[in-house]
Amino acid sequence: MMSRNLFYLFFLACSGSLSAAELEGSWIEGGLLIGQAEPGSTILFKDEMVMLSAQGLFVIGLHRDENEPVRLQIESPDGSIETQVFEVAQREYNIQSIEGIAQNIMEPSAEDQDHIWSDYVMTSEARKIRSDFEAFLTDFDWPVRGPISGVYGSQRVYNGVPGTPHYGLDIAVPSGTAVVAPAAGQIIMVNDNMFYSGGTIMLDHGHGVSSSFLHLSKTLVEVGDWVEQGDLIAEVGATGRVTGPHLDWRMSWGNSRVDPELLLRASGAWDKD
Ligand SMILES: [Zn+2]
Repeated sequence: MMSRNLFYLFFLACSGSLSAAELEGSWIEGGLLIGQAEPGSTILFKDEMVMLSAQGLFVIGLHRDENEPVRLQIESPDGSIETQVFEVAQREYNIQSIEGIAQNIMEPSAEDQDHIWSDYVMTSEARKIRSDFEAFLTDFDWPVRGPISGVYGSQRVYNGVPGTPHYGLDIAVPSGTAVVAPAAGQIIMVNDNMFYSGGTIMLDHGHGVSSSFLHLSKTLVEVGDWVEQGDLIAEVGATGRVTGPHLDWRMSWGNSRVDPELLLRASGAWDKD
């Protein structure tokens, strides 16, 4: 499924230029940019320090809603500082209004709230990990192939109250379908019973870039395992709060949710059979 709007934005979004670093990628909501600076530089993005490899590589992720221009500052080892502000291309998301939802469906019980909280703590801890490998440089490939049933950024508004946006790419395939690693990395979280997402795996691609795989029927890896691109990690399921079997693949850079579709388009995998 091709989003005309998204495709258009690809042409509009430009990388801008800095003399202290080279950047590859687009300043677009949900995008990931790879930078190359002089080794030993200090990088600040939105006033927060960004991890830099010994070779001077870094990565920046843009969230769903980057309504303000973003600031990137690079301090070179000689002490010179360069700052640039970038406009982020705004995307239009699919917003759906749903009226007449019963209130008791929307309010989880006290016990469920504890479950939701412990899931939140577990995923937040995993998102803090900053590993110094660069598997995110790989050309990303599909974790499973099938019809797209949900895209990044879409949102439902229940009785006028906006729900949490959907950050994943949903691929509708039967339970038991093999899920493979879309790029190499280290398994940083495995949980067979999360409240919303059921069987869930988080795969670290380095520098805070991670993939999450939700609603799995079977997890086939353990925390600490290193996997290569294409390695079997799980089976698709319908666990957690879902209406049917599918894989929900999400990607993050720290707490910023990036769009897997953009990575598949950049690698060319999106249009490949
Ligand atoms: Zn989903």
